[in-house]
Amino acid sequence: MSDIDKNVGPTVEAVAQAIIAHADELTELDSAIGDGDHGHNMKRGMQAVLDDLDALAAKPWNEALKAAGMQLVMKVGGASGPLYGTLFMTLGKTLDTPPTRAGLAAAFEAAIEALMARGKAHAGQKTMLDVLVPAAAALKEGKGAAEIAAVAATACAQTRDMLATKGRASFLGERSIGHIDPGARSTQIIIEAIAARSGDVK
Ligand code: ADP
Ligand code: MG
Repeated sequence: MSDIDKNVGPTVEAVAQAIIAHADELTELDSAIGDGDHGHNMKRGMQAVLDDLDALAAKPWNEALKAAGMQLVMKVGGASGPLYGTLFMTLGKTLDTPPTRAGLAAAFEAAIEALMARGKAHAGQKTMLDVLVPAAAALKEGKGAAEIAAVAATACAQTRDMLATKGRASFLGERSIGHIDPGARSTQIIIEAIAARSGDVK
């Protein structure tokens, strides 16, 4: 295992704990424009990842991401489970090991494309893609971790004024406007947790 791969365990743990700590908030957001299960769904998936942490931490980044993605597919459920699963599994499949910054940007792009194909969606529809796409662009442009986290935070806040045209929130039509998208918020939380650790991960 390379030195950089020693960060897999602590980073995965930080991401899982951040989601679990915000589960109630995610459920509240999903109660406003969905069916109120997003926090519970994500918490169940991230708990499974934590239960598997020792095995994950022994793997290189690419294998660990694939394994985490499979846990999310199996445990999260809802619309977001297969989507997050696709994101992490494709990241794992595409990432070089040990990861480089250019490799990470390319893998993130491939993972977002796979997610878009899976969900038949694109940015602008009030989903997690409205955070993922600008964050990936910031990464590709060479922005630092704090800047990428700031881009994700702004993008998440901007979902409040958007009209949902994909997923359960789209059933509400105009009434989806005025609420932050729960998947956009969970994505932002994940990006923030990774960015906070990036001093070690670089
Ligand atoms: P469900 O909508 O089945 O209850 P969740 O509540 O777990 O699933 O997840 C809802 C989130 O999933 C939404 O807030 C949105 O960000 C995301 N989402 C839903 N459908 C899509 C899609 N087709 N593409 C991308 N993201 C989507
Ligand atoms: Mg839901």
